[in-house]
Order: sequence, then structure tokens, then C-alpha cells
Amino acid sequence: MSQSAPPASRASTVQDRIAAARTSLTATQLAIGTALVAGLLVLLVFAGEPAVHESLHDARHAAGIVCH
Ligand SMILES: [Zn+2]
Repeated sequence: MSQSAPPASRASTVQDRIAAARTSLTATQLAIGTALVAGLLVLLVFAGEPAVHESLHDARHAAGIVCH
């Protein structure tokens, strides 16, 4: 029944390797995620600027201010 249980030293080594792999994976994913979020934010800022300008423009007209 308990044949599959490895010795403690081996288990700790495997766990250390798994922990190291998980740490590096998480760091890589964190870096990729951060880069993606930063790129998305930049894209949103650049793509959203005209939209914000237009919405402000519409709000101006809605408020009765004619600019053109
Ligand atoms: Zn206008």
C-alpha cells in the first residue's frame, strides 16, 4: 500500500526541484504578464485618447457649448 512513498531525502530533492521550477515559471509568467499589462495600458492610452477626446467633445455639445 505504502510502496509508492519515496524516502524523505529523495522527496525533498524532488520537491526542491519542483519548487525551483515553479518559482522560475512564476517569475517568467509574472514578467510576461507585467509586459502584457504594460503594453495593453499603453495601447489603451493611445487608442483611447481620441475616444476620450470625442466623448468630451460630445459632452461639450450635450452641455450646450458649441465649439464649431
Ligand atoms: Zn463640436
